[in-house]
This record gives sequence, C-alpha cells and structure tokens, in this order.
Amino acid sequence: MSFPPDGPLAAAVEHVAAELRAAGVPSPDVDARWLVAAASGVDPRRAPDRPLTRATAQSLDELVARRVAREPLQLVLGTTAFRDLELVCRPGVFVPRPETEVLAGLAIGLARAARADGRPDDVPVVVHEPCCGTGAVGLAVASEVDGVVVLIGDRSDAAVALATENRDRLLRAGRLRSRVDVHAGDLLDPFRTSAHPDADVLVANPPYLPLADLDALEPEVVVHDPHDALAGGPDGHEVVDVLLEDAARTLVPGGAVVLEIDARRVEAVVAVARGAGLVDVAVHRDLTGAERFVMARRPGRPTAHG
Ligand code: GLN
Repeated sequence: MSFPPDGPLAAAVEHVAAELRAAGVPSPDVDARWLVAAASGVDPRRAPDRPLTRATAQSLDELVARRVAREPLQLVLGTTAFRDLELVCRPGVFVPRPETEVLAGLAIGLARAARADGRPDDVPVVVHEPCCGTGAVGLAVASEVDGVVVLIGDRSDAAVALATENRDRLLRAGRLRSRVDVHAGDLLDPFRTSAHPDADVLVANPPYLPLADLDALEPEVVVHDPHDALAGGPDGHEVVDVLLEDAARTLVPGGAVVLEIDARRVEAVVAVARGAGLVDVAVHRDLTGAERFVMARRPGRPTAHG
C-alpha cells in the first residue's frame, strides 16, 4: 500500500496504524508513530500538519512492509532506547527489552554501593556481564557509574561484533564514564583469563525460557531473536543455575549477583541460590509487577583488590 504524498503526517500515522492493526501487530498506534518519525525525520506529534514528501512516502512504504511482516520494530528502525542510551540493533542479536532496563538499574545500584564502600579511588569496581547481546546492560552501567571496569561477553560472534560497535559509538559520543571491554566466549570463561578475573558484581539476562515455550511466542520473538538467547534448555533455567553456582565460587567475598529470571521459576531459583551458598537472596519485580530478578551475595567482606 502506498501513502499519498502531501497528506499530513498525522493522517499517515492513522493510515499506518490501521495497516499494522490488520496485520496483528501488538502495538499499532505507537509503532505507526515511530515508523512515520523514522521515515520523515520528524516526530509526527510535534508536526502533525506537516505534509508527507514523496521520498518520505516511499521509505515509509518500505518500513511498514517490514513491520507488517512482523519484523520487530527495533530491527526495522535499527536502534532501540535503553535507559538513556540509544543502541544499534541488528538481525541475529537479541533485542533488549524494557524489563531489562530494571536489571541494569539493579546492577548500577550494586556497582555504586561497591564504589561507595570505602575503596581507594584507583581500585576499580569490576562488573562482569555474560550473555551481553547488544551490550545494553553493561553499557548502561558504564554510562551511569564512574570508576568501574565492565567486562561484557557473549559466545555469539554477531553479539560480540554488535556490542563492540555499540561500545565504540557511545565512546565516541562521550557517553561512557567507565571502561567497557568486550570478550568472545561462553559465560564467565573469557573473563577468567582477562586482566579483571574477580567480579564485584555479576549481572546477566541469560536465556531462561523452557525450549517448549518457543512455539507460543509472537513472530517478532521466535522468528527474529536467536533461540540460543531465549531458551536455556528443556527446563529453561539451566544457564541461570550455572551462573548462580559460578557466582558463589568466583565473586569477590561480599560481591553480588543479579540475574533476570523466569517469573514462574522464582522459588526454584531462590533454592538454587541458597544451595550454592549465596546469602541475602532477594527477588525484585519488573515494571509489570512480575518477580523477574534474583539478587544475592557471596558471603564475606570485600578486600581491596585490583
Ligand atoms: N525476556 C525474554 C522474552 O521476552 C526471554 C528470554 C530472556 O530475556 N532472557 O522473550
């Protein structure tokens, strides 16, 4: 379907929204506004009467066709907002979700608390983030906390390349207050041989869905997100369990772990964390009220380390 040029942007938004609704897109009005803004370079709410040019109508056509085919909005736009950062998104790498902004906020609180805990200025707080995907969580930490070294890693080459690109863009834009190193490898493996093998904070949004759940997901997710980033295995929580066991062994004494988890698995996760020897095990909710995050500590008091 084409959009008649010269019509006002507001009419184009309504037109696009109707088309998206007919295609079963879950949030047609919001997505229509984003697509018109991307095609025109103007927020249609600010300039509803501005006419759609011929060139804008053409690029809008292309963007709408992709969204109608249920490509995620973030991949169609090529970027997503994450806390106050803009991150590049690309096919083949898990698209960051709003609930994960809360995970990043919890990690930021832990990193700041470690920073404030009487440590000398020249001893960095070390944050490890395996399963980093676009790099969203670790980059948010480095953009909001000073005096931290953030190691992010992923076993997917596409994720490592994209996280590096996002890190470099933010660095060039002056948005990072702390250093971020990107590593290739599975879970904590690449960090062990790095210059900062001991973490004060371990944060991750690992794959945590049971494999059988994949069939029931929206096309945006099941067709476009890597299944490796969604499902942890038949049970779902295989990776979460490994990370909790690792946290109990590899965090500095007093160090903290915070993970995004499946809200249906909260009791089992708390039991695994306690069984691994972690203390102060707490569950935090996402913005919809679901119990989405587990936080815990390795027992002991931190000692100065570099
Ligand atoms: N939160 C994902 C989803 O929305 C599930 C897997 C994950 O984030 N680790 O589908």
